[in-house]
Amino acid sequence: MTTTPFYRYDIGLLKRTLEVIRRQISSRPDFHVHYAIKANANPLILNPILEAGLGIDCVSGGEIEAAIKAGFSPSSIVFAGVGKDDWEIDLALENGIFCLNVESEAELDVLRERARIHGKRVRIAFRVNPDVDAHTHSNITTGLAENKFGINLELLDDLIAHTITMSEISLEGLHFHIGSQIVEMEPFHELCQRINTLQKKLKSVGFTARHINVGGGLGIDYKEPEKHPIPDFESYFNIFKTELELQPGQEVHFELGRSIVAQCGQLVTKVLYVKENPGKRFAITDAGMTDLIRPALYDAYHKITNLSSNEEEQLYDVVGPICESSDTFGKNRKLSKVHRGDLLAIMSAGAYGETMASQYNLRRLPSSESFETH
Ligand SMILES: *Cc1c(COP(=O)(O)O)cnc(C)c1O
Repeated sequence: MTTTPFYRYDIGLLKRTLEVIRRQISSRPDFHVHYAIKANANPLILNPILEAGLGIDCVSGGEIEAAIKAGFSPSSIVFAGVGKDDWEIDLALENGIFCLNVESEAELDVLRERARIHGKRVRIAFRVNPDVDAHTHSNITTGLAENKFGINLELLDDLIAHTITMSEISLEGLHFHIGSQIVEMEPFHELCQRINTLQKKLKSVGFTARHINVGGGLGIDYKEPEKHPIPDFESYFNIFKTELELQPGQEVHFELGRSIVAQCGQLVTKVLYVKENPGKRFAITDAGMTDLIRPALYDAYHKITNLSSNEEEQLYDVVGPICESSDTFGKNRKLSKVHRGDLLAIMSAGAYGETMASQYNLRRLPSSESFETH
């Protein structure tokens, strides 16, 4: 077996998830889904996503390179981010990607300059900040007026009027992304209403986008992953099918990350020590926050199970070996009695796990393997 800690990906579950998405959008040739590659860029994961016909959503030049290397067509790649460097813009231009999502007027100026140098016309969408509260953790809310993301609604009219006169720029879309791990449907309803209002207003000043990109953000069930291994894509897509008022010929683009891959991955870790303090029992694992930072960074809950024992349950704080108190995977968790050498699975770790791994404390990066349930 692979040395611990390692990520273990259930490619069967990933394929079933992709099939549910395919069924939901099969009646809508105008719907296009781009996988947000920052959630997980492991080739084991990318290959089934490529085969399912999804495009890619990138937030860096490195991600564009990884997507193209994995076989995705540049014409299926969208590129967002508040701080695109010149080389990243050049990479996007050279490869002729589908669309750059522009987040500020300052960025637009740089894009014009790079487009002139390359002698190319660049296809863009404006990322609009719709001021919708995603009701999620404040570190992963992106669509409020106070966040750094997107263009303020009040500035949009003038910017559009100005942009459509530019020869280097082809303004094709409007882009929205309100946050991540959104588990109520209400924010998506609200997003549709905002988009409808905005579209009417822009139409009255003579602008109609060729595509509307509604971003990603659909959440998953971290508490009971085995009950809900596949998110409720039906309710999610239904909102956009029924509530988004589209203009003739308009396409709708989605950028889903977590909801596609989170439940397909577990972090498997070995217990190094069981430490008993008065009133507290610790299971000390060989995985740490360098392998999975979500609990330390977002206070995120991940279900943990003992793969090696089915003895009576006891309470444990499951902690890593890193010299940080936030290096804790779970407090007061009920686990089948833990022994040195037991393997624990930290569930729902397929998204924002391996891609966020670091080498702090000069640790090794986690490895990975796949299996396929049917
Ligand atoms: C991160 C990100 C996504 C994906 O978010 P999920 O919550 O993983 O679905 C989509 N679009 C943009 C612009 C992002 O930054």
